[in-house]
Amino acid sequence: MYFFDPHIHVASRTTDDLQALARAGCVGLGEPAFWMGYDRTAAVCFYDYFRQLTEWEPKRVANYGMAHWAWVGMNAKEAENVGLAREVIALLPEFLDRPNVLGVGEIGLNKCTRNELTTLEELVALALARGEQLLFHTPHLEEKYRGTGMILDLLAADDRVVPERVWIDHCEEHTIRPVLEAGYWAGLTLYPTTKMTPERAVDMIEIYGPERILVTSSADWGPSDPMAVPAFIQAMRRRGHDDALIRRVVYDNPLRLMRQSRNFQG
Ligand SMILES: [Zn+2]
Repeated sequence: MYFFDPHIHVASRTTDDLQALARAGCVGLGEPAFWMGYDRTAAVCFYDYFRQLTEWEPKRVANYGMAHWAWVGMNAKEAENVGLAREVIALLPEFLDRPNVLGVGEIGLNKCTRNELTTLEELVALALARGEQLLFHTPHLEEKYRGTGMILDLLAADDRVVPERVWIDHCEEHTIRPVLEAGYWAGLTLYPTTKMTPERAVDMIEIYGPERILVTSSADWGPSDPMAVPAFIQAMRRRGHDDALIRRVVYDNPLRLMRQSRNFQG
């Protein structure tokens, strides 16, 4: 079955991973800007990273017959330095105008500090002023519930927000309901250690249906599985779900979301 992985950090993955994805039926990858495992020391480092995401990684992915789309933003793990964040935010418009850049992401919260929230508010303000789509990273484990609530409050306070152009990622059992009820897209991240298993993602589809749900690997430089979406497809089949429903989640849904961006090509 053809599928997309709309959230994977290609810059951290090998060509073996790309080969395996293409052979499994993957037709396109979405790559949000994220933390590369160390804090960058200057805005120019982000400039180079955004060039990597918009110039070099699309070429690597194209070698395997897949499409590549990027999101640019400043991740929560480096957002504590508000001065640096402002310099990075000033770089974004140039990249948001590039082909196949889908919007501002992934942005969000990590430890839910005051400075993180300030950076996030300024990123969201830029996105809304420009009519960009938004991709949010919600915090890990202990801060998940509180951080997701803070992001939802921030969005609810601005009447320029168009819910179907907002993707709240890394949802879990205790956070998915308010995300869907507010009309946003809910991302389910399949991780071998933390986050969600393929079976739990199938549970979510059975409870909530396929509308506005995305399944991704979010594979990066740590323990993660670039073949997570095919694992989800297998788990859905094991539960007896038909291909039409599975295709809706792994192909139609990501395409629908991505096509809303003005720079989408494909
Ligand atoms: Zn990510």
